Amino acid sequence: MKAIRRFTVRAVLPEQLGALEELAGNLRWSWHEPTRQLFARISPELWQQTGHDPIALLGAVHPARLSELANDYGYVEWANRLRDDLHAYLSEPRWYQGLDGSAPQSIAYFSPEFGITAALPQYSGGLGILAGDHLKSASDLGVPLVGVGLFYRSGYFSQAISPDGWQLESYPVLDPDGLPLAVLRQPDGTAVQITLALPEGRALHARVWQAAVGRIRLLLLDTDIPANEDALRSVTDRLYGGGGEHRLLQELLLGIGGVRALKVWAELSGTPVPEVFHTNEGHAGFLGVERISDLIGEGLTFDEGLQVVRAGTVFTTHTPVAAGIDRFERPLVERYFSTDLLPGVQVSDVLALGCEDYPGGSPDVFNMAVMGLRLGQHANGVSKLHGQVSRQMFRGLWPGFDVDEVPIDSVTNGVHAPTWTDPMLRALAEERLGTTDTTAADWSSGGLGDLDLWSVRTRMREQLVGDARRRVSEAWEKQNPGGVAPSWMSDLLDPSVLTIGFARRVPTYKRLTLMLHDPERLRAILLNPERPVQIVIAGKSHPADEEGKRLIQRLVQFAAEPDIRTRLVFLPDYDIGMAQLLYPGTDVWLNNPLRPLEACGTSGMKAALNGALNLSILDGWWNEFYDGENGWAIPSADAAGDGSERDALEAEALYDLIENQIAPRFYERNGDGVPEGWLHQIRHTLSTLSPELSADRMVREYVERMYVPASGFERRVSDDGYAGARALSAWKARVRSAWPGVAVVHVESGGVDAIPQVGDELHLRARVQLNGLKPEDVSVQVIYGRSQNGDQLTHVRIRDLEVEEKSAIGGAYEYVGTVALSRAGSFGYTVRIVPRNDLLLSSAELGLVAIAG
Ligand SMILES: *Cc1c(COP(=O)(O)O)cnc(C)c1O
Repeated sequence: MKAIRRFTVRAVLPEQLGALEELAGNLRWSWHEPTRQLFARISPELWQQTGHDPIALLGAVHPARLSELANDYGYVEWANRLRDDLHAYLSEPRWYQGLDGSAPQSIAYFSPEFGITAALPQYSGGLGILAGDHLKSASDLGVPLVGVGLFYRSGYFSQAISPDGWQLESYPVLDPDGLPLAVLRQPDGTAVQITLALPEGRALHARVWQAAVGRIRLLLLDTDIPANEDALRSVTDRLYGGGGEHRLLQELLLGIGGVRALKVWAELSGTPVPEVFHTNEGHAGFLGVERISDLIGEGLTFDEGLQVVRAGTVFTTHTPVAAGIDRFERPLVERYFSTDLLPGVQVSDVLALGCEDYPGGSPDVFNMAVMGLRLGQHANGVSKLHGQVSRQMFRGLWPGFDVDEVPIDSVTNGVHAPTWTDPMLRALAEERLGTTDTTAADWSSGGLGDLDLWSVRTRMREQLVGDARRRVSEAWEKQNPGGVAPSWMSDLLDPSVLTIGFARRVPTYKRLTLMLHDPERLRAILLNPERPVQIVIAGKSHPADEEGKRLIQRLVQFAAEPDIRTRLVFLPDYDIGMAQLLYPGTDVWLNNPLRPLEACGTSGMKAALNGALNLSILDGWWNEFYDGENGWAIPSADAAGDGSERDALEAEALYDLIENQIAPRFYERNGDGVPEGWLHQIRHTLSTLSPELSADRMVREYVERMYVPASGFERRVSDDGYAGARALSAWKARVRSAWPGVAVVHVESGGVDAIPQVGDELHLRARVQLNGLKPEDVSVQVIYGRSQNGDQLTHVRIRDLEVEEKSAIGGAYEYVGTVALSRAGSFGYTVRIVPRNDLLLSSAELGLVAIAG
């Protein structure tokens, strides 16, 4: 029988246990091990059964157990102590409070998904987990951030695998009352309602859920309320569910509704309205136009408002895969903005923001990433390599500039160590190295013996094996009600065998089935009598991605063959809960994407934090951090003729590494049965990589390199009633209109003989036409370097030339400067003019340049 409606009745806790309610209400429990132990003590079985969910646990535990604990003085004390600890954590000064007054007072972080804990399944994969980790580290560092997202009634989806290996999706409905969420309310108790005007006089309403993530507030908008007509209640039904219009509605709600919710929340909580807006991927981009609409309400023009918004907006792109970027039919966007949705904003101005008006672009689409770049002065990719790839990918927006000058920087992702480090490893660090901060410990210290480290690594592997057996048996029993799982399932995997982990979403570029390239060779690796290998695999395919489901099916069918089924295991329903056991339990973490399509990849980082060694294509973060000792690089066959040749070469390299290097090293044991060489690599990985891979490092970088500069620019354009924004807007208009007449008229050089030598100085004199602009509006630059392949400049340097004011005649000026010839070999140069203004972050920002010749 199915219920037509369901809700969760929360337990009434005995008064003595009031601390538990407070502790359960702040998601800090999801990464605070002592608090988790407090809950686990209530009932270890229920803690396990509820998937480590304090609210579900308190709802399920027998009242008799609660009264028993209420009378247990030791337990009550323990709970109260942890509550005091939480209070201190929430109020004490942390890293950010030590920064000077120029740091922003409030920063908004927008993302379509947030992965904080398995108990709040509002994520599909990497982007969501990253957002969750960002909030947690921001909390630990005291960064005044507020998160904004949507509340999806069914989250992403639950995955099961049919007997013939096909992915089956189900969408269990979440009950927000049973989650650590509270409705945002007005002082009189009524729920805050956010409203967006839609075409044909309709309206979309949403309520706002708040979650406390340590010191950070997360606001989640939810359309499943009676105020909405039926069709609109399901706007927030699922994450990445529908296409086209459904997706657009979600993104309008996230961006525009999100800013509206923020303003209400800021007022109700007495918090400053954010100065900096950090938007992740294009999905939340409409937040910028909502803010422009507000500024128009304050008397600015669209373009002046745009200057304010750009100055304070950080846009992070997270994928170089075209399918990962939202593009809408232009007429659809036009229809939604030809309404009262954004007072004062012309639809043509909105359309221009997302227009692909560059070579290779399509004029019929509205591109959310392009809008993100136009609305965010501060932009970045998520690893150094991804920064490069993004500069290449979006260079059409800055025509005339070399790829290196495209103003997209990079901040390499990180992962939240307290969430992703196994408690056993942390306990070991505490006991032997005197710290619970595993990212700061000296893992090479003699205070930690090889045997101890190896025994914890082994226990983590055993823990994974136990979890895999349980999951596979449970999945079988679910599909065969009343049956008893076959006995081989309880012998699945072997806790002493070299374990390779591989889990990810299943888009094609991640190449789930690369390892199946030569099935017989793989079989031989798995079944090697002296040096066996086992592989644990997990991953979800997007429900609409048939190709991804076929890959899963191939893998599952191969893994079903009786001789290898205990060595190659696919675990259904990859989520945070599984991941937290999977990363620590593997010896080697495998990643074999098609380079350079993995923007960063964070699963390997989480594995490394637990002492797993990475085996990966040099893509994303690994391209930056592989050092020859912390794991293995699978060489990319970039020169291969076609995709299948490339797959073949890379798969062969993968097999070779496992057979010839990884397995021998893992099984090379000393008299105590300990693999010394392997442990050396683990210690090296933990000591050198953990601090770099931690989300604390990432969040500090965002603060220092993005948020603080963004708030500086934002203040400069906003002060004095937006005087800076008005001036900047007028200046840009003047520069743009003069630009077609701006030119380098003539360049002459002297100072070098017929045969130039190292040590000579090249004297340059350039005559430029500024067409009414003043020398302070531009930089005239010499660009020089080696000239290769004909006239292409490489190893480029840039130097400003000086104006000779007296030379001004009729809008033309002469500029002079010298360049020292410090290196022998081919040399080349050119001269260019670019706009100059203190409020530009880069010379390329306006995409305007006039080059000699
Ligand atoms: C870390 C993580 C991901 C993302 O991993 P990638 O390596 O970036 O693909 C996806 N899902 C879960 C559950 C994770 O924990």
